[in-house]
Amino acid sequence: MRGLRIRVRGIVQGVGFRPFVYGLAERHGLTGWVRNTSAQVEIELDGEPGALDAFLQELRDDAPPLARIDAVEVEERPPSGFGSFEIVESAHEEGWQAIPPDTATCEACHAETLDPNERRYRYPFTNCTHCGPRFTIIEDLPYDRRRTTMRRFEMCADCRAEYEDPRDRRFHAQPVACPACGPHAWLHGPTDDGTGGDPLARCAALLRDGRIVALKGLGGYQLACDATNDDAVSTLRSRKRRYGKPFALMVPDEGWAERLCRPTDAERNALLSRERPIVLMKRRDAAEIAPEVAPGLDTLGLMLPYTPLHHLLLREFEGPLVMTSGNLSEEPIAIGNDEAVERLGEIADAFLLHNRDIYARYDDSVVRQLAGVVTPIRRARGFAPAPVELPFETARDVLAVGAQQKNTFCLVKGSKALLGQHIGDLENLETLEHFQDALATYERLFRVRPEIIAHDMHPDYLSTQVAQEYPDPGAVRVAVQHHHAHVVSVMAEHGIRDPVIGVAYDGTGYGTDGTVWGGEVLVADWSRFERVAHLRYAPMLGGEAAIRKPYRMAAGYIWGVCRGATESEFAAFTATLPIGERIILRRQFEAELNTPLTSSCGRLFDVAAALLDVRREAVYEGQAAVELEAVADPRVDEIYPYDILRRGEGWIIDPAATLRALWCEHRAGRPLSTTAAAFHNTVASFTAAVCERIRERHDLERVALSGGCFQNALLTARLVETLEATGFEVLTHRAVPPNDGGLSLGQAVAAYAIATSS
Ligand SMILES: [Zn+2]
Ligand SMILES: [Zn+2]
Ligand SMILES: [Zn+2]
Repeated sequence: MRGLRIRVRGIVQGVGFRPFVYGLAERHGLTGWVRNTSAQVEIELDGEPGALDAFLQELRDDAPPLARIDAVEVEERPPSGFGSFEIVESAHEEGWQAIPPDTATCEACHAETLDPNERRYRYPFTNCTHCGPRFTIIEDLPYDRRRTTMRRFEMCADCRAEYEDPRDRRFHAQPVACPACGPHAWLHGPTDDGTGGDPLARCAALLRDGRIVALKGLGGYQLACDATNDDAVSTLRSRKRRYGKPFALMVPDEGWAERLCRPTDAERNALLSRERPIVLMKRRDAAEIAPEVAPGLDTLGLMLPYTPLHHLLLREFEGPLVMTSGNLSEEPIAIGNDEAVERLGEIADAFLLHNRDIYARYDDSVVRQLAGVVTPIRRARGFAPAPVELPFETARDVLAVGAQQKNTFCLVKGSKALLGQHIGDLENLETLEHFQDALATYERLFRVRPEIIAHDMHPDYLSTQVAQEYPDPGAVRVAVQHHHAHVVSVMAEHGIRDPVIGVAYDGTGYGTDGTVWGGEVLVADWSRFERVAHLRYAPMLGGEAAIRKPYRMAAGYIWGVCRGATESEFAAFTATLPIGERIILRRQFEAELNTPLTSSCGRLFDVAAALLDVRREAVYEGQAAVELEAVADPRVDEIYPYDILRRGEGWIIDPAATLRALWCEHRAGRPLSTTAAAFHNTVASFTAAVCERIRERHDLERVALSGGCFQNALLTARLVETLEATGFEVLTHRAVPPNDGGLSLGQAVAAYAIATSS
């Protein structure tokens, strides 16, 4: 006989780890005990050496689906003479406890809801240790039912028996419930006929009838309508005041996804993953979907049902549904029943409500395959707050407040970076309150007391003000430049500290010289950066307004960048400017009035889209670039000319020749599929050329890509290909978004490095 003491760290609580250990010990004839402590699971065992070895092997190999084992420590000790194996009372102290994020309904639970002999037949709140709600219902840790919104539901005898049986799939499943004791759903609205019929069947009937239904999902309300019904989709757009921007769809099953799109293997895996994100995929030409779902795009965002409520509804409906956040454009997603009925009353014809409260808002997550890697574009339900493991351990907690757009915050504790869920654009009071609520929840759940507070350099960002007003005057404030933070975010994900060539291409970021940066090539490590190359500055005529009006940006480029003799070549374009506006713009340009300078790569894409007449005015951010990518043919390998100019110690990328060639070709009648693709190829080409020059001078082999422009799959694929072909090692995002949604991770790591190096 031998004795062992084992400690397991990682996500090992709230995932059925103790019953798993219990079953394993029983099977190998071992005695002893298992218990949770605040930070880990502890096991003591007596048994035969062979049985103990087998136990250790299976502990790692067969762990429950939601568990993530980071470390197993094993210590030999003399046998204690245990008589049996037991699960003993938890020893909870203050401290860290890793719980998995909300997880899609597992196969076993799904099967139960479809079996008329089961007591949970058609029950929309079925869940178990391997699936169901988590962070959307947790008010505090340690994780148990008393500290969730399930508190008000007293378990019935049947549920309690499952909850207390270590051999049951629902042993200590905190949200366990059944029709006899748990939450229930009902239909509310003007069409309520008071018949008390099955709410899901009635909801599906309304949807088939072209109505808009607000339904209470996992992390907030969603608005649903028939995705094949033009009128329903158009009505939803106008009521929600969301124009142009694509809607996501929920489809009943994988077969439906294949009917509408052409998923790659990686995309199919993402679709079926337990995070169940919205996956952006190439649509089939023949896909029968209302054109208003995703106008001007060659992709659709699809997701599969992820709660029993969704499964049952989609089963009744038997087709694709638009499934979008339950909010007015730009506001946070609604979570409370009264709140939803009030805020969404003008949008929805009916409400599918239920009485399990949502404690924290989590939007649906969005992923896209970029250069072969499925990457989050919006990181929320299913992903947050799963920590990103960092290659260092800090004794001082860090808070990074993120950017103004697509805001997330990030908390660092020990070696873990906890990136909060997608909050949205910090432009209104509601979103700011959402930010503050979510931050307060995380600080409480994870016992974080930030001593270092990182923020953007932009003085007018609301997040910068939040950092300055943070109620701890003793905490150190560190301002991190926007594009430096982008580059550090991708470095941190890969655990890379040594200097890299950082390519940060996005729409807007505050530069150290007060101009608007966005086409930046840096040499950077965590604490320092040098701006070694950037896109040539162009005037933004009318400032911010140029973002919504790509034709203004094009005029700025024509007058400010493609100067002199070439300008007459563009006369046919400038003649298309609205006449009154043209005079004003020209005056603004000459007097340098309200014309900030920008090196933004996002704006350069806008210019190309405007010149090609793909998009002259944008109704949502990034629309011009997204549509330009949609028309480009990836088989084209043409590249337009460009210039790389030497300036002091660095380089300026001058795209004047590119735009001239683009415009000439367009005027000559070359198809958009060719010109748009050649433009993408050119951006990849000049970027790789600049990296090559930096490699020669700085002896760096590693390139890190970040920034919103790298949500563009064609650009990302082209650039990665080109760089790898010339021997560069390329780092791209995997765990956090390349856009500003991932910025807070870079801010946190950069601020930690800056604060601890001085
Ligand atoms: Zn389950
Ligand atoms: Zn029950
Ligand atoms: Zn950015």
